[in-house]
Amino acid sequence: MADRKQISFSDAKKLLEKYNIKVSGEICRNNIEALSNAAQNLGYPIVLKTNSENIVHKSDIGAVILNIKNREELENALKKLDENIKKAGYEKQEEYLLQKMAASGFEVLVGAHQDPVFGPLMIVGSGGKYVELLKDSAPGIGFLAEEDIKEMLSLTKAGKIIEGYRGEPLDEKVILSIAVNISRLMAENRDILEIDLNPIVLYKEGFSLVDVRVIKGNPVFIETAPEIPEKIKNSLNKILNPESVAIIGASRPGKMGGIIVKNCLRIKKLYPVNPKVDYIQGKKCYKTVKDLPEPPDVGIFLINAEGVVYEFEEFCKIGGKGAIILSDGFAEIGRKDLDDKLFELSRKYGVAYIGPNCLGVINNFTGLNSFFIPEHRTSIIEKPNGVGIISQSGGIGMEIVEMMKIDNMRLGKLVSIGNASGMGLAEILDNMGEDPDISVIGIYLEGIKNGRQFLDIGKKVTKKKPVLIIKGGTGGGAEATMSHTASLAGNLDAFRACCRQAGFHLIDAMTEDPKVLVNILSILTTNPMASGNRVAIVSVGGGAGILLADQATDSGMNLAVFSEETKYALRDLVKAKKLLGTNPVDILGDCDDDRLLEAIKIIDKDPNVDGIITAIYLQVPYLSEYLPDRLVDLKRSMTKPMLVSPRGFSDYVSGTRKYLSEKDFPTYTIPMIKPMSIALEIWKQYGRAF
Ligand code: ADP
Ligand code: MG
Repeated sequence: MADRKQISFSDAKKLLEKYNIKVSGEICRNNIEALSNAAQNLGYPIVLKTNSENIVHKSDIGAVILNIKNREELENALKKLDENIKKAGYEKQEEYLLQKMAASGFEVLVGAHQDPVFGPLMIVGSGGKYVELLKDSAPGIGFLAEEDIKEMLSLTKAGKIIEGYRGEPLDEKVILSIAVNISRLMAENRDILEIDLNPIVLYKEGFSLVDVRVIKGNPVFIETAPEIPEKIKNSLNKILNPESVAIIGASRPGKMGGIIVKNCLRIKKLYPVNPKVDYIQGKKCYKTVKDLPEPPDVGIFLINAEGVVYEFEEFCKIGGKGAIILSDGFAEIGRKDLDDKLFELSRKYGVAYIGPNCLGVINNFTGLNSFFIPEHRTSIIEKPNGVGIISQSGGIGMEIVEMMKIDNMRLGKLVSIGNASGMGLAEILDNMGEDPDISVIGIYLEGIKNGRQFLDIGKKVTKKKPVLIIKGGTGGGAEATMSHTASLAGNLDAFRACCRQAGFHLIDAMTEDPKVLVNILSILTTNPMASGNRVAIVSVGGGAGILLADQATDSGMNLAVFSEETKYALRDLVKAKKLLGTNPVDILGDCDDDRLLEAIKIIDKDPNVDGIITAIYLQVPYLSEYLPDRLVDLKRSMTKPMLVSPRGFSDYVSGTRKYLSEKDFPTYTIPMIKPMSIALEIWKQYGRAF
């Protein structure tokens, strides 16, 4: 804290005026004659408050006295103010701040601070004494233009009030221009760490800025977004799509180097390297990289850290194209020097590397699998599809694969980036963004090194394909702060702003459970697109349908209102006495295969429906063993997405789910509704299936 300090009112006023922001008030000696003269000149009513740089929340200690109408009231106010300040344990003050009493208006907050990853972070929203309580603000990062501020405001209740909620619209232009100027101020003055304009009292026309707080300290500089060199880009492309693979540190079955040889046996040009062995899994083994029959596209390294640095250079010298370095013993145990050495070599030879200290790459198109987990202990997916995953944690990466495998989902590519001293999240994202085989990208991340690069690349990639993110490490205590802005806008807010501005889908509810991500990917890649969010819920039995309907509306979906035709068709189908046409549709526990399939068909035709969610008790007597196969055929002929959720946990239910998944027909339990709501958003945004 010592390196940050609030600057005086006069300096703050001067600074803001340089950026065309007018601050109300003037400093006056703490003396009744001087104050009275100043008040006379300003014109009553006036406000008297402390000007102390040490008092952060003035009104908390009664150091703001409003609406002083004449000299007599001024005298009383002055006494009171002196008293309150003494009571709060501060010295008698030499000077006070005198302001004109602003007419009442709507109080807005504009604030900013320097984020160590993203640079200036701004927030706008409801202001006044209750900001921390109301928490009605939206963040934005980087240099912001009027459109950005408009978008931020639109995410707040303050924005609605400014637009004219139950009244006349307020002077939005004022806020836009103040915010744009503050954004520029923060970009140009890296030693201004926090700024709080709270409140800006806003009117139909104009404003009055009655409280400013500016904190100065050691400048915060962030890295600019580096261009990825073309050579490194091409090299990375080889790593992710190799035809020939050398394994440096290959060894007998049971050791890590043996597991990887086994996992990669689908690759035709597979070259184990180990000076002590002749054959591994029937493959000829080479003594050194110099003996290889060709420079390989990828070298997978799993020897000791010091050895890696030496062998990586040898590998570069023979013309190896790119590397995956699985070995640990680098920055994660304090040997950053070894990471730096690798980086240097990488730039010298134009050879990219993933890792070190990672699980590496799975590419189901080519058969590359550098995950050193014994096959029988995990689940290896071999069938490719358009899903690309990037994980900052190897463990979570492995779990994601296993979760996919349970539902027999497919996977295109998965990259575990480890220390990422060479290729980081941004570079891999950039590559997957341009990869024609990848149609949707999921990321597990904990932190980013270069916020600006991530944002820039993100903007480019999300124009082409959806990028979904789960973020770990969002909790933790916030640092003590000196302004409203800093306490409102934690690290997560900067990240949220980055996601919004880059077009990433940040999956909030889901740091607890990566299955949300997996299910979104599953829903997106096994269904036709939906063009809206009106869902129909079909259930065998009432309860499950009602529960799903509640969750669906909670997650922002709408329950479809059926057409008259659908209502009559459903009524005929169930032959129920009551008019059946409400949504959720209960097709009753006595239903058979035909009734269930027919109900789905009827609803699929209804133009008022965008997607179908079913809740089926496969356990009921008249649903048969043949239903699963008929569901598979029905789904192929449907034009709308349909989620099948077999309810319950009996062996019969589990067995049927497994049977269906083996037919590339995933079924869902929780989490399902949240993933569906996000899938609906993505279909709507991109206007196509994946
Ligand atoms: P602090 O935020 O340190 O408590 P402020 O100067 O923001 O102190 O004053 C607290 C509240 O008092 C403001 O949110 C605003 O509602 C009101 N206020 C302060 N100054 C004025 C003024 N000049 N005219 C009208 N109201 C004011
Ligand atoms: Mg204030």
